[in-house]
Amino acid sequence: MIDLRSDTVTRPGPAMLAAMTRAETGDDVWGDDPTVLRLQARVAEQAGKEAGLFFPSGTQSNLAALMAHCGRGDEYIVGQLAHTYKYEGGGAAVLGSIQPQPLDNAADGSLPLERIAAAIKPIDDHFARTRLLALENTIGGKILPPAYVAEATQFAHDRGLATHLDGARVFNAAVGSNQPLQALTADFDSVSICFSKGLGAPVGSVLVGSRALIESAHRWRKVLGGGMRQSGVLAAACLYALDHHVERLADDHANAARLAAGLAQIDEVKVMSHATNMVFAQFPQADCAPLEAWLKERGILTQMLYASRFVTHLDVSAADIDTFVDAVKAYFTR
Ligand SMILES: *Cc1c(COP(=O)(O)O)cnc(C)c1O
Repeated sequence: MIDLRSDTVTRPGPAMLAAMTRAETGDDVWGDDPTVLRLQARVAEQAGKEAGLFFPSGTQSNLAALMAHCGRGDEYIVGQLAHTYKYEGGGAAVLGSIQPQPLDNAADGSLPLERIAAAIKPIDDHFARTRLLALENTIGGKILPPAYVAEATQFAHDRGLATHLDGARVFNAAVGSNQPLQALTADFDSVSICFSKGLGAPVGSVLVGSRALIESAHRWRKVLGGGMRQSGVLAAACLYALDHHVERLADDHANAARLAAGLAQIDEVKVMSHATNMVFAQFPQADCAPLEAWLKERGILTQMLYASRFVTHLDVSAADIDTFVDAVKAYFTR
């Protein structure tokens, strides 16, 4: 099957599985797993932070970070479209007693500074205490403008707010903008990075930040049920991904561009945006369900909505993109 629904669908190949089999392990709740320690240190160093912490999921990594930054009755400023706010079950509020203050994202994914300024509450018992600005990069595949990131994080820090980056796909942003990871993480107090997206590992995220922040997140990880034991087998997959799956993200970006260009040739389809490994396109409403079924019969998995998202990854080749585009063309000319 050609699966364009998400970059989370990749499966570990033989070389990654072999690396997992070879992993030296220990009980990570005791801090005894050398492979986990190696992964945490390596990601922290690459991101220019003091320490790292391995999590089973990005949702838990983001939540532990929010809980390390904010206490009960505190507030974090976040985009309406941000994963932490929209797609994590309201965890900050549900489990962290943290009030989200969502703001509309601009078209480029940023949160305009004047909206942030207006949302910061005065110190007054009527208000939640505004503690944190959370951004996401990439967001909807788009790379946040670097000048904006520098300005927004400075703006937040000047007002006493901490800053968190949901960098689930920050490696896509780094490769897509031809910059070292550090250039995209330097301005933030904490960054959460997913290994189960474009990097192709089966499981895992790493949170990086100061030693004090990571110590606090370590406690919350335990509380949230994320303390794992011989998790070196999973960390080994992430280390393998760092060695072999970072630079190749450029192939995914090229394939997304190829997909966007292919769809753009079809009159019935309107390509809304394409950036890094994602393409968003609109299809006539009445065609969505039949087209999805048509594609599935031809071995192509999509989630056809009025505004559909297509994601390229490790297990999608340029030839697969052509197969997909040809199948969409065939549907509209049938
Ligand atoms: C996938 C994702 C996460 C975390 O998701 P998990 O499935 O919990 O690992 C967080 N933020 C963004 C932007 C994501 O795409």
